[in-house]
Formats: sequence, C-alpha cells, structure tokens
Amino acid sequence: MAKYSKAQWRPIPINYTSGGQSSVRGLVVHIMAGTLAGTDSWFRNPVARASSHFGTGKTGAIYQWVDTANRAWAQANGNSSWLSIENEGKGGDALTSAQMDRIAEVFAWVHKTYGVPLQVASGTSGKGLGYHAMGGSSWGGHTQCPGSRIVAQLPQIVARAKRLAGSAPVPKPSYAPFPGAAYFKGSPRSALITAMGKRLVAEGCSAYSSGPGPQWTESDRKSYAKWQRKQGFGGTDADGWPGAKTWAALKVPTV
Ligand SMILES: [Zn+2]
Repeated sequence: MAKYSKAQWRPIPINYTSGGQSSVRGLVVHIMAGTLAGTDSWFRNPVARASSHFGTGKTGAIYQWVDTANRAWAQANGNSSWLSIENEGKGGDALTSAQMDRIAEVFAWVHKTYGVPLQVASGTSGKGLGYHAMGGSSWGGHTQCPGSRIVAQLPQIVARAKRLAGSAPVPKPSYAPFPGAAYFKGSPRSALITAMGKRLVAEGCSAYSSGPGPQWTESDRKSYAKWQRKQGFGGTDADGWPGAKTWAALKVPTV
C-alpha cells in the first residue's frame, strides 16, 4: 500500500491492475484533455479502460485514484514501471503554477518513497520525471501528451521538487564578522564602513559615508538609534553606535 497523504484519496473500483508494479522508474506527466471532474468520472466508466495514479486540477487540487502498489492504465507498456499523473487542461495548454507545485510535491514523495532520482527522465529506460510521448508507440503513440509547453516545464518542476526534498544547494551569503565596537569610534572610511553604509541606507537610515575620519554626525546617530529601537534593541544597543546586535541584524556583506 502506498498512498500520498496530501492527495484526496478517490479510489476507483475498476480500470487498473492489482499489484504488478515491478519497480518504479519515475512519474509520467499527462494532459487530461478535459477536466479533473470529468476524468474522475471517466476512470469509473468500464468503457474507459484507462486510469492514472494521480491527477491535478488547474487551481491546485490533487487526487489519487490508484494506490502506487497497483498498476494504473495510463501509458501501455510503461504501466509496469512508471507511476502516472494526469493534469487538467486541453491539448497545447501549459500547466498552472499550482499544478507544477502539486506535481513537484508528488514527485518529491516518489523520490522519497521509491528512491527515484530528482531529474528529468532521459527516456523509457531512464529514471525520473517523464512524459507520455517519450514512450512512443510502445506507450500508445500519444505524441501530443502532454504537449511541448508542458514538456518544457519539466525542468522547473524538478527544481521545485529538489527544493521540497531539501537537496537543492542553498546559496550561503557571506557576512562580515563584527569588527568590534571600537572599530567604529576610531575608524576612518573603509570598504567595510561603506558596505555598512549601504545596508543602513537600505534600512532607511542616513549613511555613514562622509569625511575622512570618524564623522558620525549627530543626525546620523539619531537615525541609527531610531532604527535600532525599531529592531527592539535597548540601552547601549540603541545608542546610535553599531554594536554586536546591530551588526548581526544588518548582515553587512564581506568586502
Ligand atoms: Zn497521456
């Protein structure tokens, strides 16, 4: 039994094979050429002889029709080793951002549950996020499913899934360490002071940038003190001079 807990569980009694999922290579993206409600109804019709594991609506609904331990009937010879997700829309549509989010979430779950790599599949013998047309005639020859606009969105969906799975590299900003309170009282203009000035301006303060020496004007210090109080600082942390707390809050980049 494998159900994706965030999907609405809407089991269908027919149109799938119990068991028979040999291994999972990935998730295949389809276009319904119809609505989510219409597809939900169609999969319960014995005439359909079709189903998929998951389905999305344009506004972000997510259904699960078939347990992933079972074989949905979505892409012919691809059914035994690929899971499937149908998407509301007509041929030629792009996915909505909400649909891309839902597919990314399901794909991140497939990654976690089956160890499928977070990548666009290179083909039917590859692994990852695939699409119906990549299977060619052995997958039913659905050359227009899900359409070129959606195929072009697959890398973005993979990127979203990577962020969800926590495997995307998070860029680490580099901030300058606190140079000590005395640095400001005695310091001349420096690259670090200029960088700090830019941050203060960005925070709505006047910048410490004038003069060759420590030229904190009274109005500068008032401006900084006001900003410090706005951060909830008090006492010597709100006296208009940069202290450790102010420095940590300003996040002055290294120079
Ligand atoms: Zn399809």
